Amino acid sequence: MTHVPQSEGRPSVVFAWLCLINQSPLQGASPKVVTMLQQIQMAQLAILKRHPFVRFTVTREPGIDIRTGVSGEVFRAVNTLCLKYYNQCQSSRALEMIVQAYWIECYEARITVLRLENPSLSAMEVRMMGLKEACTVLNWKEKDLRNRIAIWRGYKEIKDAGGWASLIFASAGVYRFCKYRTGFGEGFSTRLRHIRSSLEVAADTLHPGWRDLLQVIGLRETRQYHGHPHEWVTVTGRPAVPLSATYEHTQLPNGFHYRFIDDCVLDTSAFGTTDPRRVPELDPDVCFVCKERQSDEIEKNQCSCFPTLFGGVRSPVPVQLFHTTSGKNNGVIARGNFDRGIAIGEFKGLITKGIEGVDVMLGGTRTRTYQIFQGQMGNFTRFINHSCRPNSQFQRFYWRDAHYG
Ligand SMILES: [Zn+2]
Repeated sequence: MTHVPQSEGRPSVVFAWLCLINQSPLQGASPKVVTMLQQIQMAQLAILKRHPFVRFTVTREPGIDIRTGVSGEVFRAVNTLCLKYYNQCQSSRALEMIVQAYWIECYEARITVLRLENPSLSAMEVRMMGLKEACTVLNWKEKDLRNRIAIWRGYKEIKDAGGWASLIFASAGVYRFCKYRTGFGEGFSTRLRHIRSSLEVAADTLHPGWRDLLQVIGLRETRQYHGHPHEWVTVTGRPAVPLSATYEHTQLPNGFHYRFIDDCVLDTSAFGTTDPRRVPELDPDVCFVCKERQSDEIEKNQCSCFPTLFGGVRSPVPVQLFHTTSGKNNGVIARGNFDRGIAIGEFKGLITKGIEGVDVMLGGTRTRTYQIFQGQMGNFTRFINHSCRPNSQFQRFYWRDAHYG
């Protein structure tokens, strides 16, 4: 946790941050953001209280003694605690960066005023005057402030090019990135500007409340993108467009409708309640490929053929729909790294049979076949487009005793 002071006597980042949130911009904030900030503040205070340099005796839950072993229940509780403080630190870190990027704007605006008020002073002298004003309140040495300003300028540049979402959801590496400026230049801000709306689509659909954080500097922004992350088609350098709008040219009688589903839907009129994907002859506990144990319980599972889809921690697939520039309408673009050989997603849709004349995926064995139809429902795999130089392929896989693609 980067917010916990590392040594006694060193200025604590926690204290610095507590000062920031006690300042005036909070006064215009909504009750929701105030509550959130108060919760974070309470957590920060709790960290301080537990910190050995503040008070050495840490109160432990009664009955927990690490020397005699920790039960599954206690370990779960510790994991939950870890997650709670991790999340709180992430939120406070985001708030800190917002305020610091905003500080740069205020500083520049202050310099403009000082220049007008002191026409006889040189540009350098005016800047020094501004720095001194800040240092009086911050209680930092001028050199320390200047070092920080260099980093804060980086935050502002990121925000200016990629929008607030690009700064708020930047990983912990953003500090080093701005400190050493290794990746700046070489068209960095242009690239960031190009994906600005993609970042906002992801932020708005996956973390709808993120814009509330901006109230810390008095900004009130409304959510731009609603619904499922894949209901938006991203366009380079422009706002994303609703998926249905990209099918207007097809002039479908009832318009374009597509339902995003988390799991395949079984067409009971075709199969009753018997899932045709089930293969009774297969051992549901053994992987057909690696022969390791398959289990839906993560702790017990040992098959790691496709860990992001089966038997592991599942998170949203980092892909988005995008508008191709080659006239092929939509495609799917990766917004994160995929290791070679990893599964991108499961081909999901209506499990049915007897459909003719439209694209379907065929599944099953020689004796038992079914179709996966993505005409009305499914997931992003429906929008994976063709390529003469493909970088992915379709593959079948058995999870437990059922067939997947
Ligand atoms: Zn396996």
